[in-house]
Amino acid sequence: MNGISTVGVLGAGTMGAGIAQVAAEAGLQVLLHDPLDAATERAQERIGGFLARKVDKQQLSDEDATAALARILPVRTLEELGVADLVIEAIPEELGLKRDAFRRLDAVAGDGTILATNTSSLSVARIGSATARPDRVLGMHFFNPVPLMALVEVVAGPMTAPAVTDSVALLARQMGKTPVVAADTPGFIVNRIQRAYYLEAFRIFEDGLAALAAVDDAMRGIGFRLGPFELADVVGTDVNLAAGLAIFDGFFADPRFRPARVQGSVADAGRLGRKSGAGYYDYDAGGERGAPWSALVRPHRLPQLTPAQIEARILAAIVNEAASAVADGVAPPEAIDTAMKLGTNWPEGPLAWGERIGLASVVHSLDALHTGVPDGRYRVTPLLRAVAAGGSFFSVRH
Ligand code: NAD
Repeated sequence: MNGISTVGVLGAGTMGAGIAQVAAEAGLQVLLHDPLDAATERAQERIGGFLARKVDKQQLSDEDATAALARILPVRTLEELGVADLVIEAIPEELGLKRDAFRRLDAVAGDGTILATNTSSLSVARIGSATARPDRVLGMHFFNPVPLMALVEVVAGPMTAPAVTDSVALLARQMGKTPVVAADTPGFIVNRIQRAYYLEAFRIFEDGLAALAAVDDAMRGIGFRLGPFELADVVGTDVNLAAGLAIFDGFFADPRFRPARVQGSVADAGRLGRKSGAGYYDYDAGGERGAPWSALVRPHRLPQLTPAQIEARILAAIVNEAASAVADGVAPPEAIDTAMKLGTNWPEGPLAWGERIGLASVVHSLDALHTGVPDGRYRVTPLLRAVAAGGSFFSVRH
């Protein structure tokens, strides 16, 4: 038992509504607060609709759906969340807002109350230091849509007590999720490694080595559900750029994470992806993907990479980043592969994939790229080089 029976959820937007739903379905009492009454009402409607569809599909009984909905109690003030055993914050991604909310929660919460943030890109330590209980502050990073995505990154800050991390991981399991504990480092596991998937694709395109649809087709061809440009359009080109900038900042301008100019061009033009009807691609009224944005169609002046060359470059980048996360102590190899499969629906974990291709060949590809562009973006993670040179493995498959 983890002693958590009442969960407060702060913010009733996309993520807060999903978190409230999975907590209520797990039998927990939920207190839900949003400064906008309309947001709380909309959240309750959305949760009701989601549960009704589960009943229709016979995944849930009528009584259980009604009981789950009844367990969600809207409250009018943030202070009323203070009685919860755990409060999960899901308000907008702004450090000042989050620190202020944590300071207020800290003032009213019981001594034992755990405060969790659903932040995607901010430091848990910087949020926790707004409170007098940084040992009971951690990240609980759910993925969108919360009811459908199995992963929760449980982000342990440098001051988070291990018992707190353990009890929140247990709670995530009770909510039907797979928790993966990650250290409080920029992008945690999933967003950090996924950067490599995007950025290598953007570089290939910007260097004139492939058309963007050719990159997307290549990656779909080896089992990714969406190519990097298509995925950026789903996420939102503005949201994707902001996340990339936050990680770049977090790594103090490491060239591995430098955003690509094309990201700025697309977002600046107001082409925010599917939500605005246009992004890297045009979309028709029914949301069907059309042609790439005409401004991004360029004459091929260079020999174009083959699909196999595109795949090799992007896979090498993600394997290198996964090895770098292991080396930085973000999480052990198995946990990293699990997180990438569940958090992004990748067909295989990056380290297992690297082992299948051959780590030595990954190192060889990166070294060749580094020779051409020696600015550090392709530098091989020393741990990857050592593991490859020793002919050994990260032990994710063996
Ligand atoms: P959202 O805009 O859909 O919802 C935010 C809600 O917070 C709104 O209802 C708003 O009224 C409310 N709010 C604003 N200021 C508040 C305050 N001071 N106190 C309480 N509530 C306040 O945002 P979202 O997409 O649900 O994102 C919330 C958090 O989850 C962010 O930190 C985001 O980075 C993170 N996140 C989002 C996703 C995603 O795909 N949307 C995925 C993982 C994590």
